[in-house]
Amino acid sequence: MTTLTCPKCSKIFKDKYESQCKAKLDSHLNRKNPCDRNDDTPFIREKTVVVKPNAPDLSQLNIDIEKAPLVDMIVRVFEDNECACMPNISKQHVVYRLDGKVRSEPLTDFIKTFWFRVMIPQFFKKIELKITMFGMNAASETLTLLEYELYVVGHKTPEGKPGFYPKLLKSLRGYFNTMEKSKRLEIKGRMDGVLQTWTQA
Ligand SMILES: [Zn+2]
Repeated sequence: MTTLTCPKCSKIFKDKYESQCKAKLDSHLNRKNPCDRNDDTPFIREKTVVVKPNAPDLSQLNIDIEKAPLVDMIVRVFEDNECACMPNISKQHVVYRLDGKVRSEPLTDFIKTFWFRVMIPQFFKKIELKITMFGMNAASETLTLLEYELYVVGHKTPEGKPGFYPKLLKSLRGYFNTMEKSKRLEIKGRMDGVLQTWTQA
């Protein structure tokens, strides 16, 4: 058992381990309101304010029309809106807000959510999809999950090679993986409604 005494107020700290005991005393000595504070020193109160989340919700994005390949236009939606990020690159989970809630999904699941909640109801309302590209109406509001797997994920080029989807996956992976860490945390913070703490005398 280690015992240490605060040199300022004589409070006693005990712990089985010396390092732990020292840590207790250190945190006591580093208090914002020192233990030997006299009446002339104002007491410091911490104020915590929860800021309203202000990252765009996936259900309401700003979609700009610009002629470009479809994959590039989709990446552009993310650049313009900053509505999703991978806070932890090694986990490869995309974090985003949808219907007011923060959600996290592996990239492929996220693309599916994105297709049904952004591409169909928002994106294709502004940019008409070349129906021939997918061989069927992948932009239809009645698209089923099975049809999504078949025609979007399983999309093939006229030569029968893997088409649109691997390109989209690669581009989005690139977009999320190369985002600066500070940017990732900033976007994530805006989704949660950043906890801001400051001290007030
Ligand atoms: Zn003390």
